[in-house]
Amino acid sequence: MSRLDELSTNIARIRDEIEEASLAAGRDVHSIRLMAVSKTHPYEEMALLAEIGQLLFGENRVQEAEGKLAPKEGRTMQVNLIGHLQSNKARKAVSLFDRIDSVDSLRLARRLASLAPAPYPILLEVNTSAEASKHGFDSEDDLFFALDEIALMPNLIIQGLMTLGPLGGTESAIRRSFSHLRSIFERVEQRFCLEHFDELSMGMSGDFRLAILEGSTCVRIGSAIFGERR
Ligand SMILES: *Cc1c(COP(=O)(O)O)cnc(C)c1O
Repeated sequence: MSRLDELSTNIARIRDEIEEASLAAGRDVHSIRLMAVSKTHPYEEMALLAEIGQLLFGENRVQEAEGKLAPKEGRTMQVNLIGHLQSNKARKAVSLFDRIDSVDSLRLARRLASLAPAPYPILLEVNTSAEASKHGFDSEDDLFFALDEIALMPNLIIQGLMTLGPLGGTESAIRRSFSHLRSIFERVEQRFCLEHFDELSMGMSGDFRLAILEGSTCVRIGSAIFGERR
């Protein structure tokens, strides 16, 4: 089997599983996008996926993405940053990525607002599993405090929220983390008038079915598409 066949088979299987989960949740399958998480995999693999219509990608490190991606202008793929961003790499990141899904502090949002071209889309990352090793706003209060300011930044378009489920958690702990993000999302909608706020990025290879049951609009899948990371 060629690599293209392998990737096509994996994508087709995941699309089927997304469809099953969306049916189980009583949701329209078109409300869920599949992001291929291409970190550690070479550009050639991304190009093969693009051939079969998979055009949304996630990368977690600025340096790695810089080494393998074509410039944003004229690129057919959409590539989002999903890993922690250090302020000193923010300028590079906005020139390289179509969206930053991992804005995890007010300080980083201020930095992005000072140098991003308008309108620049972002997601805010929330730590819903209380794991100290994770990035993201630690509580709804922290998030709301930051949003009071970020919502007024004219060049940043806040498109939604992102979270990671607890790694190796039980099914109920994972679901709790996802439903927690969704309830925060609903309260943000009520409290802030954000025009383009409709993305709930949650779910990875091991837990995307649960994320879809809890309302995910974007599942971020790496190993189930590419195989184990190198
Ligand atoms: C690596 C990564 C993923 C994908 O993980 P898999 O388990 O390989 O599907 C999703 N989201 C983030 C933020 C990641 O860093």
